[in-house]
Amino acid sequence: MSTINILIAGAGTTGLMLALRLARAGVPFRIIERNRGPGQAPAAIVAQALAIEFYQQIVLAEQLIEHGINLPSPFELSFPHDDHDDCLLEQLSALGVEVEWGVALQQVEQHRDHVAVTLVKNGLREVCEVGYLCGCEGARGVLRNQHDLTFPSDSDNPLFYVADVVVDGPQRTNVYLRADRHQLTLMAPVRSGMQRLVGTVAPELLAQQNLTFEDERAGAEHRLATTLGKAHWMSTYRVHQHVAEVFRACLMLPGACTPLLKASA
Ligand SMILES: Cc1cc2nc3c(=O)[nH]c(=O)nc-3n(C[C@H](O)[C@H](O)[C@H](O)COP(=O)(O)OP(=O)(O)OC[C@H]3O[C@@H](n4cnc5c(N)ncnc54)[C@H](O)[C@@H]3O)c2cc1C
Repeated sequence: MSTINILIAGAGTTGLMLALRLARAGVPFRIIERNRGPGQAPAAIVAQALAIEFYQQIVLAEQLIEHGINLPSPFELSFPHDDHDDCLLEQLSALGVEVEWGVALQQVEQHRDHVAVTLVKNGLREVCEVGYLCGCEGARGVLRNQHDLTFPSDSDNPLFYVADVVVDGPQRTNVYLRADRHQLTLMAPVRSGMQRLVGTVAPELLAQQNLTFEDERAGAEHRLATTLGKAHWMSTYRVHQHVAEVFRACLMLPGACTPLLKASA
């Protein structure tokens, strides 16, 4: 059985950022990611002022601002998160740290002073004794599921859609927000020629299965007074506030799980 002082499970933005902070402090750790390489499609695009302040602390703010699109006040930066994660990976690599791609956290067992962890790579299992396990696995991680950190449902919240849509013409760097009595639509730049649309789903579409951007296109074009091109993808989501009931010492759930820590600490 191998021993690891700190294991970071998940190389999304949170895991990479934590890895960079530890690497710069000279603290040894391993970082694993179940995907076989970095993500190629941006989900998050907007970094708010507080996030930029954190980047300033690790001397990365200027590099991000240079590559991103500076949105009008209050200060926000449009910087697709796949590009952003590539930047963190580069920084880690320069410090001699590589993510272990294709390695998944499979099982977690907490003991009094350590965590027993099973990892899987290409079907092969590795059992490790871990001092601190940082579950940076996003919203539906093994750590959260196996420790029964479930959340009460508040599914009556409004349903939103989010889509990346081609918009021709000169690059737009503004954020547009339009609202009427029933719906709101927001448009912000992702990259040249590509805009992120976020909006509430039209009330008459709420019961419809398999919504596509075509269902929302006419309403969005009307509210934004713009002709929109091909939609690359669309997804729907609801905003929830989740609060966990328990906090356990050797297990950490940062990032997409941050509300857990705030609530339980
Ligand atoms: C459509 C969309 C738009 C968004 N827009 C914004 C925005 O504009 N601005 C903003 O600030 N936020 C935005 N967000 C939220 C933001 O993306 C998340 O807060 C952020 O990605 C959380 O990062 P994370 O590293 O905690 O989790 P994730 O990005 O989910 O990363 C978790 C990683 O862990 C890996 N993993 C999972 N399970 C295991 C396992 N068992 N073993 C090993 N690895 C595992 C996953 O493969 C993944 O790479 C958006 C989210 C979505 C879905």
